[in-house]
Amino acid sequence: MLALSAEGALPKVDYAIFADTGWEPRAVYDHLERLENEIAEPAGIPLLRVTSGNIRKDAIDPDHRFASMPLYILNQDGKPGMTRRQCTGEYKIKPIKKKVRELLGYPYPARIPKGIFVEQWVGISTDEFHRAKDADVKYMRNRHPLIDMGWSRADCVRYLTTLGLADTPKSSCLGCPYHGNAQWRHIRDNSPSEWADVVAFDAAIRKGNARANATGNRLLGEAFLHRSRIPLDQAPIDHVTAAEWAALQQEIGTESPHSEELEQGVIDGCSPWACRGSEITQDDFGLAS
Ligand code: SF4
Repeated sequence: MLALSAEGALPKVDYAIFADTGWEPRAVYDHLERLENEIAEPAGIPLLRVTSGNIRKDAIDPDHRFASMPLYILNQDGKPGMTRRQCTGEYKIKPIKKKVRELLGYPYPARIPKGIFVEQWVGISTDEFHRAKDADVKYMRNRHPLIDMGWSRADCVRYLTTLGLADTPKSSCLGCPYHGNAQWRHIRDNSPSEWADVVAFDAAIRKGNARANATGNRLLGEAFLHRSRIPLDQAPIDHVTAAEWAALQQEIGTESPHSEELEQGVIDGCSPWACRGSEITQDDFGLAS
C-alpha cells in the first residue's frame, strides 16, 4: 500500500507507521530500511516507528510488567493450555493509537472532539477479507484499499516483484509462538544466530513470564514456544507428531485440525488490526475512544 500510494496508484498517505516490538527478524528491519529509503522518502511520506518496548527483554525481566505472549502450556496434570495473548495489544495497537492521537493533536488522555479522525489503511487482501474490521475507536476509521482494488495475495506478490521486492519478509516477533513449522525451520536453516536467540528465549520462559513469578503468581506447569510443548531445539519442526495432532484437537475443539496451521502457523497471525478478535484483550489499549 505504501508503494501504491508513493507511485500515485492510491492517494498519497500522510504517514506510514511501523509498530516495532523490538524483536523482529533482521530481514524485516532490513526490509523496512529499504522501504523507507527507496519508496517512502522519495515520495515524501514519513515512515514513523513506534514502540512500547522490547517484548523479548520485557518477558524475561522480573521488574517489568509484561503483557503475555500466547505461550503453549503443559499443565501439571499433563493437559495442554495456552496463556492469553496480550502482546499484540500492548506492543502494536497501543503505540500506534498513541501516535495517531499525537498526530491528531490530542495526545492521550485528551478528549478528541467529535468528527476528528484519521483514515487508517489496513493491508488486507481479498483472500482474507473476513479479517477486515472497523476500528474500535471513533478517532480512527479503517479502510482496506487492497480489497477495494480487488487484489489477492498473489496480486500483491506480483506487484512487489515488479518493484524488486519479491522477497518481502513476513513481519512478526522472531520467537512468536504462532509460527508454524515452516517458519521455525526457516529461522533454524537460514539464521543460526536468530535460531540460538529463540532457543535461548524458549528455555528462559519455561516457568512462565518472569514478572508473574517474581510477584508470586507462579505458573503451575511449563511454557513453550512450540505447539508440541517440547523445547524448541528438540521440537519436531520437520514433521508433526501424533501428540501434536492430539493437542491441536484439544485446543481448537474439533476433530479435524488444520494441518496447514501446523506448517504455516496460526492462520490469522499477528496483525494489529486483523487479529482473531476473541484473543485480543483490550485492557487500556483502547486509549479511550
Ligand atoms: S508477533 Fe506474536 S509474540 Fe509478537 S506481538 Fe504478535 S502475537 Fe505477540
